[in-house]
Order: sequence, then C-alpha cells, then structure tokens
Amino acid sequence: MQNKNSKDYKERGIFMIKVELKDGSIIEVEEGKSILDVAKQISQGLARMAMVGKVDGEVKDLRFELNKDCKLEILTFDSIEGKKAYWHTTSHIMAQAVMRLFPDTKFAIGPAIDEGFYYDFDSSATFNDEDKEKIEAEMKKIIKEDLPIERFELPRSEAIKLMKDAGEDYKVELIEDLPEGEVLSFYKQGEFTDLCAGPHLMSTGKVKCVKLLSTSGAYWRGDEKNKMLQRIYAISFPKASLLEEHLAKLEEAKQRDHRKLGKDLELFMTHKLVGSGLPMYLPNGATVRRLLERYIQDKEIRMGYKHVYTPSLANVELYKTSGHWDHYKEDMFPVMKMDNEELVLRPMNCPHHMLIFKSKMRSYKDLPIRIGELAHVFRYEDSGTVCGIERVREMCQNDAHLFVRPDQIKDEVGKVVKLILDVYKDFGFKDYKFRLSLRDKNDKHKYFDDDEMWDKAESQLREILTELGLDFYEAEGEAAFYGPKLDVQLKSAIGHDVTVSTCQLDFLLPQRFELEYIGEDGKAHRPVVIHRAILGSSDRFISFLIEETKGVFPTWLAPTQVKILPIADSHKEYAKKVREALMLKGIRTELDDRNEKIGYKIREAQLEKVPYMLIIGNKEMENEEVGVRSHKDGDIGAMKLNEFVDKIKYEVDNKINNK
Ligand SMILES: [Zn+2]
Ligand SMILES: [Zn+2]
Repeated sequence: MQNKNSKDYKERGIFMIKVELKDGSIIEVEEGKSILDVAKQISQGLARMAMVGKVDGEVKDLRFELNKDCKLEILTFDSIEGKKAYWHTTSHIMAQAVMRLFPDTKFAIGPAIDEGFYYDFDSSATFNDEDKEKIEAEMKKIIKEDLPIERFELPRSEAIKLMKDAGEDYKVELIEDLPEGEVLSFYKQGEFTDLCAGPHLMSTGKVKCVKLLSTSGAYWRGDEKNKMLQRIYAISFPKASLLEEHLAKLEEAKQRDHRKLGKDLELFMTHKLVGSGLPMYLPNGATVRRLLERYIQDKEIRMGYKHVYTPSLANVELYKTSGHWDHYKEDMFPVMKMDNEELVLRPMNCPHHMLIFKSKMRSYKDLPIRIGELAHVFRYEDSGTVCGIERVREMCQNDAHLFVRPDQIKDEVGKVVKLILDVYKDFGFKDYKFRLSLRDKNDKHKYFDDDEMWDKAESQLREILTELGLDFYEAEGEAAFYGPKLDVQLKSAIGHDVTVSTCQLDFLLPQRFELEYIGEDGKAHRPVVIHRAILGSSDRFISFLIEETKGVFPTWLAPTQVKILPIADSHKEYAKKVREALMLKGIRTELDDRNEKIGYKIREAQLEKVPYMLIIGNKEMENEEVGVRSHKDGDIGAMKLNEFVDKIKYEVDNKINNK
C-alpha cells in the first residue's frame, strides 16, 4: 500500500510506518506516534475505551511509541490484558492510598489476578473494616485527582538505591534477586512510585468503580519461614453496573461454597488434630460418597471392568521404576524408613495395576483388560491451598487402567468417551469442553524425555478424537509426565472450569514395567496403557456437586430422602410404621417425632434440603395415606403409601435431576 503523500513526508523529514490492525487492515501513521495516537486516529470512542496495546504480541502502555512497521491490537477492558492493566493500575492506587493513610507501611507485591487484584502490605496497623472504608475513600480521591502515571527506567544499582532510600526493604530484595546489569522499570503517580514491569493505564482517573473485598494473611514470597503480611483483595470496573454484577456473583458463590454447605448439611468436617487437607466424611457426606462410588463401579462392571484393592503404602523402588520419583516427587510425601525398607504414600496407583497385569501370562485374546479401583492416593498440597474436600492431601480416585493392543486403542478410547458422556447425562451436566492436553516440549524435567514416543502418542490421540467427531481444543503443558491426555473441563455454576474426567494414552509405563502379551504370531508384544478416571476423585466430584446443586442433591443421592413429620403425639405410632415400611424398601427415611410445631419441623427439613416430607395427621392416619410435601414444589397432597413409594423409586431409578 503506497501513500501518495509519502514522498512529501520524506522531504519534510517525517517517516510513515505501516501498522497492521487486528482485522488485517493496514494504516499508515507517523513514526514515533503512540498507541493512544493510533487509537485516536481510528476513533475517539476507541481511544476512550483503550487500556493498553499489543505490539507484535507484546502488551505495552498506551504511551508506547511506534517506531517501525508492526502489528497492533488495541485492547479494552473486554480483553484479559486490558482487564489486567486496569486492575494492576488500581492496585497501585490502593497502595498509594495505604501509603497516605498508614505512612509506616512497607510494600511487597500487588499483582492483578484472574478476578481483580491484591496488594501485600507490611504495616503496624491491622486493617479492619473501618480502615478498609478509609482506604477505599482515599482511592476514590486519588482517582479524582487524575494523576498522570509515568514510566521510567533505572539501572539495577540506582534502582536499589532508590528503594533503599524509601525504606522499601521488600522491593530491594526483589531487585537484588535480578541479574546484575538489568534495567528496571518504575511507575510513578503523584508521590507514589513502585517498582513495576507494567503495563499501566495513562492516569489514575481512568479507573472508575473500586471495591475492597477481603483481607487475609500471606507470607512474604509464600514461605512460612518469612514474615506474615496483610493482603487486601479488591476489584475495579469501568462501570457501576459491572461492579454490581460482580458482587452479586460473589454472593452467589458464597451461597454455593461447598465448605459452607458441607458444614450446614453435616456432610464433612475437618479437625486440626487430624491435619490440614484431611477431611472426615460425616454420615450424610459418607452416604453421598458411597452412592457415587457404587454407581460408577456398577457402570464399570457392566462395561467389563474388574476391580481390585491395592495398598496405599509402597516401596519407593516402585515409583523409581515407574518414573514418578523423577517426575512427580514434588507432589509426594517424604519417604518413611522402616526396617530395611523405604516406603512412600502413593501419589498414584498406576504402578500397582501394571504389576497386576504382569502377574500372569496374557494372550492377545485376553485384551483389553480393564483394571479398576477406588484408590486412595496422597498428594502434597501446600497448607495454604487445601480447601474443604476440593483440594485435599488424601483423595479417593475413580481410577482404572486399560491394557490394550495397539489396534484396540481407538475403540477403547471411544468407549471411555461414551462412558463420560453417559455419566454426565445422569448428572445433567451440559456445559463442558474436551481438552487435548499436550506436553511442553521444552520442559524436560516435568515430562519424560522421548520425543518420538510423545509425538506418536500425541498425534494418535488427536487422530482418534478427530475420528470420533469430538469437539476439542489443545492445551500445551497440561499432559501427564508419561503421556498426552484427553481432559474434560466442566463449567461450574459459578463459572469456574473444573477438570473432572480424564483419559490418557501411555506408551511409557508398559515399557518401564516390561509388560507383554503373546500375540497371534506367538511372539511377545507390548500393550498400550490407557489411564482413565470418570468421576475424578470422589472428593472433588462431591465438592463440585454440592456447588452445582446448592446442596439440594437429586433424590437418588440425597443423604435422607424422606422425613416423616407427625403433627401430634397420637400420630407417632402410625408414623413409625410408615418409616419402617419405607426403610424396608431401601428408602433412606428419618422420623422427626420431637414435640415441636409442624411448621417448625417443615422449615427445618426444608433447610436440611430433604427431597420429601411426609406429614402425618388424623386424615392421613384414617385413610392410611401420607401427606406429601416436596422440597422443590411444596405441598403435593395426600397419597397412598405404595403410590408414594412408586413415585420415589421412579425418581431414584431414573436419576431424575432437580434442575
Ligand atoms: Zn505494579
Ligand atoms: Zn494411572
């Protein structure tokens, strides 16, 4: 594209450069113009909405000057990078407000996160709710002042001096960790300067609505040996309506929080004497878990799986053989020395199943062999990241290993996918995506180093997924250390992506354990292993279900399915008989025969989220009926007992969902 004026410009000493925009169109701008100038040249509206720009793939401040032909994407709050710059700028505003109000505060780090940002402070004050209000008010002032945000660079030594003079010990430590000769960037707004890689907005006035959310303790650099700092989480938006929407979403998440519901519904508990990340299932939670585990095993048995039990402790040599010791040690508990053995708590049970396969001669006619287990595995999780039953240190996995001939891979992966879809249908899950998780070719530490084997496994899995007509996307660096996998990402009710099911192709473990079967040709051949989990871990799956259902489990999973509520003393005998009859039919029933008002009993059963209440009064007793009330629909009316049994049995057998 030739600009007819370019000759003129050159004569006047002005050079034009070509800027390719996101839509592929190319515009000519004067060399040295900033991203903001280009945005203005496109439209004033875009310039107002612009947060940062991406120049040849790198995110830059709007003031960044374009000096050569380039690709430019102008990013608004709607993009991830735009949001991050917006939130990061707000974190500087929060730090500035804290500096004004609590001058002895030292500043650690203040990054943007997935939703909002935080800043870690070392202050003599302990920030309470009143302080948080003051900080928020001061932030609004700083926004109003519309301070320009300026960027400058310093060589490492001068940077250290600047931060030392300011008494910013944490920043000094951060700079000292960087290599000698590095040039560092700072951002300054008014009297506040922060060591920062950026990018940032042009001025504090660009930020509109801010909200401080919560505070927590955080160790400097996440290390328990360091000082505990105060972290303030906050968020900001360009529009009040967006902030309101976000706060409503947070409230919804709080209502669905599995830790809160787990406590309210007496599903599980933790105790510091037992340890962090080691929950105990109470009878209600244990019932849900037992039902889920029976459910999935029954499905697997119908598909030809054979289930085993293997121990949670293993000799460390087992994991050296499998390769876990080299590639997975950081996630394992340390070795226990006993007599002449070194034992570990297992992080996975794959090696055990390899040995079970190897325990006898296998023929090509025996394959596929499907070995399943509800296996307890142990993973080291930082005490700061454990969470309810979602992230735990001991979990129970719905695991299986399929030993197949190479010609059976496709068929078997197809069956796994079918099982996943079948299970999701039973639970009413509709919002999910398949992800093909590949290795990161450069990470030779995490991934077993054999490019040929990886390439084969990755392309084979990709081929199968394409042939199965599955809609999937690819993600690098998400594979297991021994092979690529197909993960299913479920979208939770509060918008999080949760990995539940997985299916992994493995050429490595069969080789490390020297697995063989005798082929049709009478010679020894190596099988391929498929690792798969459908519910993932029982623990994580239940936490997901709790959040999905807000604790209102479908009738087939409800810890108590029916609660019988006699109105008066004279109804208790009949109520007991009804209970016995239901229990004999396998319906989980409880009787509330306390001397409380019926309205009170109903409210309580409603809070316990019991699917059905049976009200027993004179009329019901005389007609040998029960007064049925459902959690979802309220009063349904009187029914003969066997009619009610048929109704609930139908719901259970068909796994009717509440949604
Ligand atoms: Zn910063
Ligand atoms: Zn496995």
